[in-house]
Amino acid sequence: MIKLDHVTKAYNNSHVKALDDVCLEINEGEFVFIVGDSGAGKSTIFKLLTKELEPSEGEIYIAGQPLSKVRHRRVPALRRQIGVVFQDFRLLEDRNVYDNIAFAQRAISVPASQIKKNVTEMLTLCGISEKYRFLPKQLSGGEQQRVAVARALVNQPKILLADEPTGNLDAENARAIMDLLERINERGTTVVVVTHNQEVVRSMKKRVINIKKGVIVNDIPEGGRLA
Ligand code: ADP
Repeated sequence: MIKLDHVTKAYNNSHVKALDDVCLEINEGEFVFIVGDSGAGKSTIFKLLTKELEPSEGEIYIAGQPLSKVRHRRVPALRRQIGVVFQDFRLLEDRNVYDNIAFAQRAISVPASQIKKNVTEMLTLCGISEKYRFLPKQLSGGEQQRVAVARALVNQPKILLADEPTGNLDAENARAIMDLLERINERGTTVVVVTHNQEVVRSMKKRVINIKKGVIVNDIPEGGRLA
């Protein structure tokens, strides 16, 4: 589903390689953590996957498609295959929960009747149905992150990328968000989570890719033991 083939990324203004000859494959339906210190190259990987950045060397494939061959006008279609969730939720503060999720569907001109059905389904899946009329500021952090997950998924992407999704949450809400991501994964979406939260990583027992200074130093399979 995701493949990095000898990918190197050097930013123009830096002599340090943010990624150095990285080879990585993530299969369809996998749940993977990417861990590593600040500056290790985790965000760079995400930006390469969504074609916000181009690699300096190597090729990236999403669902078999080499990203170097994706033309500018096809980039929005590529990004629709990938839902993204951030640490700071990034909801539209002046719109309620329903409209935050529906917004993603309106952006791709889904008919109104279909939007209602899809948004309702996402509200239920993410456990926020009762608060569909609330504004983000009327929700707890955990609830806001559920809305962000619902929004990322409503267009049915094949891949969900989550960048520190529990970074602003207490332990209980972090657990609930990880449970939600696990359920989403069980429905068939490939899930990739960047996190610093060792507790979360340890408890989930999923594949863990450890990256350090732009190099993968460790790739522990699901159920494997952490060092
Ligand atoms: P992480 O997400 O793991 O914290 P990043 O991918 O953001 O790491 O950064 C990897 C390396 O690339 C770091 O050394 C960082 O300083 C560098 N880097 C990131 N973004 C830029 C940029 N826009 N210009 C120059 N260097 C950058």
